Amino acid sequence: MQKYLLHIGGQQRPSADETYFETDNPFTGRPWAQIARGQAEDVEDAVQVAHRAMTTGSWATMSPSARGLILQRVADALEENAELLARTEVRDNGKLYSEMLGQCRYLAQWYRYYGGLADKIDGRVVPVDKPGYFTYTRREPIGVVGIVTPWNSPLLLLTWKLAPALAAGCSVVVKPSEYTSASTLEFVRILEQAGLPAGVVNVVTGFGPDVGGPLVDHPLVRKVGFTGSDATGRHIGAAAARGLKRVSLELGGKSPNIVFADADLDAAVNGAVSGIFAASGQTCIAGSRLLVQRSVHDEVVAKLVALASTARIGDPMSPDTQVGPITTRDQHKKVLEYIDIATAEGAQLALGGGVATGTGTDGWFVQPTVFTGVSNQSRLAQEEVFGPVLAVIPFDTEDEAIAIANDSKYGLGAGVWTTDLPRAFRMAEAIESGTVWVNTYRAVSFMLPFGGVKDSGIGRENGAEAIDEYLETKSVWINIGAPTGNPFVLR
Ligand code: NAD
Repeated sequence: MQKYLLHIGGQQRPSADETYFETDNPFTGRPWAQIARGQAEDVEDAVQVAHRAMTTGSWATMSPSARGLILQRVADALEENAELLARTEVRDNGKLYSEMLGQCRYLAQWYRYYGGLADKIDGRVVPVDKPGYFTYTRREPIGVVGIVTPWNSPLLLLTWKLAPALAAGCSVVVKPSEYTSASTLEFVRILEQAGLPAGVVNVVTGFGPDVGGPLVDHPLVRKVGFTGSDATGRHIGAAAARGLKRVSLELGGKSPNIVFADADLDAAVNGAVSGIFAASGQTCIAGSRLLVQRSVHDEVVAKLVALASTARIGDPMSPDTQVGPITTRDQHKKVLEYIDIATAEGAQLALGGGVATGTGTDGWFVQPTVFTGVSNQSRLAQEEVFGPVLAVIPFDTEDEAIAIANDSKYGLGAGVWTTDLPRAFRMAEAIESGTVWVNTYRAVSFMLPFGGVKDSGIGRENGAEAIDEYLETKSVWINIGAPTGNPFVLR
């Protein structure tokens, strides 16, 4: 079985106690690789190495333009290695190869974009109100960044943090999900082949409490970038607060996808299917609540069921497959439990509702599942399932749609399907979420900020301003002839 080691200071090495854990292929339900099981000692080494890299190494003195150039090379290397990285992602998390290949290629744009920004980080001269001083600000890298990622999109969610962190001149220790560590380890090698100095990005694999905890708590880590569940996010937020360090948290969602009667219903149904069944519903932005105006409710549900029931379920490596497995055994169990909960709550099953069979393997498949007649107060409508289970909720008026949409502890994404332009603007304003898509769903770009409100998180990734998360501002006062005043009085 393939073995993956920690990556610290450009070296691949076993963990301090030389233990490993297995990582599974969700399509076969069997382990395919062993991953070094990191410990607090490994985190200590990795953070020290990262700290040295940004204080004494070549990274510390490298010009911003040179840093930017390395990021451009990383982008090229990502494109060249996209097939390898996509295959590794698919083997570990079961997402469709066709989607992963496109995603890995697209990730290059993040490194180009932030690489381009690296030498545009500048302070400013401030014409201060006090005579005899020349004052200016400097924008400096915040320090070592700790990145903790989930299993659903390891490289994408790493890149959203890593590209701006590197552009800012930070060094990094990454702790990928224990379920999907391999692609991050493959990628860090590619980063160094592309010219990133050893020690700037280090990867410590392992479990949350063993590795993530010590990383977040380490005093030399000055910023934590986390994507994952709101339960872990709360924990990490509290730990970061104790250490008085900056933190961004990209957490869960229960995003409403809202279809008005005036919408292009075929387009809306297409968007609803992509919103919940793409990646088998394992995306934080899954449109897991489908709000449908009552006058078109039955028509929309009929079209939805007709389209979703054509989904080809199977091998995620096959170009014909449209719905792949659930990434982990535990998650598979959790999704099936939610189907039972919804049934017990009285929701009506319109499609699916169980394990998908006939794939020829012991993989963790769930049928695309649609429940109608769902109350927004139910657990199915309020809790994140993170699987291919859609809750359809009827509404009558625009105000009611807004009230239902906002009646959630989450606020990550929302879709609005309408041909009424003023309504589109009204909805975009009224919905409490980090992103609103109108007549589309799931679009993301390196150029547009992404993040959540309420329990969906703190902070924004992507867009030019994301680089600020990795920078501190220093003010410099130079006396160029200020009068010497009374030493006992504040100047
Ligand atoms: P998770 O919270 O269980 O784990 C995320 C990471 O945190 C893993 O690497 C894990 O090992 C680590 N971790 C766990 N306990 C820790 C601890 N005590 N200290 C430090 N680190 C710890 O989440 P998951 O199940 O891997 O991912 C699914 C969740 O991620 C879903 O809730 C989903 O909505 C969310 N998500 C959010 C976004 C977003 O951008 N908002 C994107 C993708 C996924």
